[in-house]
Amino acid sequence: MTRLLIIGPPGSGKGTQAEHIARHFSVPAVSTGDIFRTHVSQETPLGKEAARYLDDGAFVPDHLTNAMVKERLVDLDVQGGFLLDGYPRTALQVSELDNMLASLGHRLDAVIELRAPDAELERRMLQRAKEQGRKDDTVDVFRRRLDLYHRETHEVVAVYGGRGMVVSIDGSGEPGAISELAIAAVVKFLTA
Ligand code: ADP
Repeated sequence: MTRLLIIGPPGSGKGTQAEHIARHFSVPAVSTGDIFRTHVSQETPLGKEAARYLDDGAFVPDHLTNAMVKERLVDLDVQGGFLLDGYPRTALQVSELDNMLASLGHRLDAVIELRAPDAELERRMLQRAKEQGRKDDTVDVFRRRLDLYHRETHEVVAVYGGRGMVVSIDGSGEPGAISELAIAAVVKFLTA
């Protein structure tokens, strides 16, 4: 039973790594960005509200995000563990997640931080823009997302760092090699 978080700036390859790492630990990867994008494409009430934030590279307001995650974390498939990708992104979301897990009688095992230099992140984002055509992959919106990451999500890493839970991984390089590195580092951390 493994409960993990993955945190990384936009373009760090967080989504790809989340899939690989989750498969290794046989847990579902839960990506808040993916859930929001699904709501947007299905034009649900949440999707209609969230769309403009996603398009602007802004955070979806905490009350919407927290409610969505809370609902997801009671699903049967995540009771045996999960890898949460994209949440928490603010200090407030950290305490919300603390409460959600406490009420379920669960606790986190480790937090994976994926690092990469800003220039590399921008290069990858431009590549992804060509391949996937995500609406928030434009230079302006990307810089806003990166700026938010440095301003807000860094603090999230610091909080978990203070709890001695962070496994930092160098996210520059080839995706397969990074997955291996990340999995080995997490296994080592969990068995230490
Ligand atoms: P990236 O890591 O590349 O920014 P994500 O797919 O994780 O991409 O997230 C895309 C967008 O979804 C974010 O820019 C934001 O608008 C919204 N989002 C995802 N997770 C959260 C969250 N925890 N809190 C607020 N907004 C979020």
